[in-house]
Amino acid sequence: SEPLLQLDGLTKKFPVRDALGRKAGAVHAVDGVSLSITEGETLAIVGESGCGKSTLGRLMLNLITPDTGTVRFAGQDLTKLSASALRARRRDMQLIFQDPFASLDPRMTVEQAVAEPLRLHSIVPRSEERARVADLLSRVGLRPELARRWPHEFSGGQRQRIAIARALASQPKLIIGDEPVSALDVSVQAQVVNLLSDLIRDLGLTFVLISHDLGVVRHIADRVAVMYLGRIVELGPAADVLSAPKHPYTRALLAAVPGHGTKAPPIEGDVPSPISPPSGCRFHTRCPFVEDRCRVTSPDLGSAAHAVACHLDGRLPPATPAPDRLAG
Ligand code: SF4
Ligand code: MG
Repeated sequence: SEPLLQLDGLTKKFPVRDALGRKAGAVHAVDGVSLSITEGETLAIVGESGCGKSTLGRLMLNLITPDTGTVRFAGQDLTKLSASALRARRRDMQLIFQDPFASLDPRMTVEQAVAEPLRLHSIVPRSEERARVADLLSRVGLRPELARRWPHEFSGGQRQRIAIARALASQPKLIIGDEPVSALDVSVQAQVVNLLSDLIRDLGLTFVLISHDLGVVRHIADRVAVMYLGRIVELGPAADVLSAPKHPYTRALLAAVPGHGTKAPPIEGDVPSPISPPSGCRFHTRCPFVEDRCRVTSPDLGSAAHAVACHLDGRLPPATPAPDRLAG
């Protein structure tokens, strides 16, 4: 079947200026990403901060325009739509932000905030608005009586529930959550993750989860895309990527999760500057398995069900136990 969202060859650079405002290069935020997302699946995009995952999320919704490449939603190229056609399409695609404190207008009651998209997209007649808001609030686990309250009266977790109710109001097909629980207390994170996973299942939503938290990803993702310096370096079923990672970077990310059990040496060094990314494989400056060809030739991701952009193609040498383990 046709994918709900199809990205082809997306690139996006942002100009960088020096202290005097002169052009000083460009950040290669997204560099040649192609990806298909099937209706009803939950795809997680993971990677360290600055890897381009938030930029990719915004490109998916055409909130920013790619330098090259296309974004097709249900077969329609979003980058070619007129402003009014795009506004109508927005109904089908919603974004949930990390910070529920910033995403709700403090001058709107909960009812006004949730009713706004209902009106904007003419979802229900005015006479049914209040009932629909009450229904949306109960869907996200909030009592409908809370509709007349103001955002500041709620906790972070409750505000994120309100933001989710607002996102659901237009009956979208696709929701992108950009670190939707990272700003919440750890004790609240699991509740909101469970809510999201129930909604995805019950409403048949297609969900793109942008996250650096592999615990959250493991809980709800069907597939995982791992990004490093603007490129997807590994893509596959969540169970495979998270239990048998093929890319040295993925393996190192997993090894950093407490209690995961995967043994891999920690990644050495910092993420290189996205202004002048390394030649060849972008991970070569930090990879424990680097070979000469890695500095020259960029490995392709390919199209396997569990794909990896690495010249070793998943045949990684066994991880060396850390010296303290040998001693013990
Ligand atoms: Fe490491 Fe080479 Fe694979 Fe890049 S291509 S991840 S440098 S082994
Ligand atoms: Mg981000």
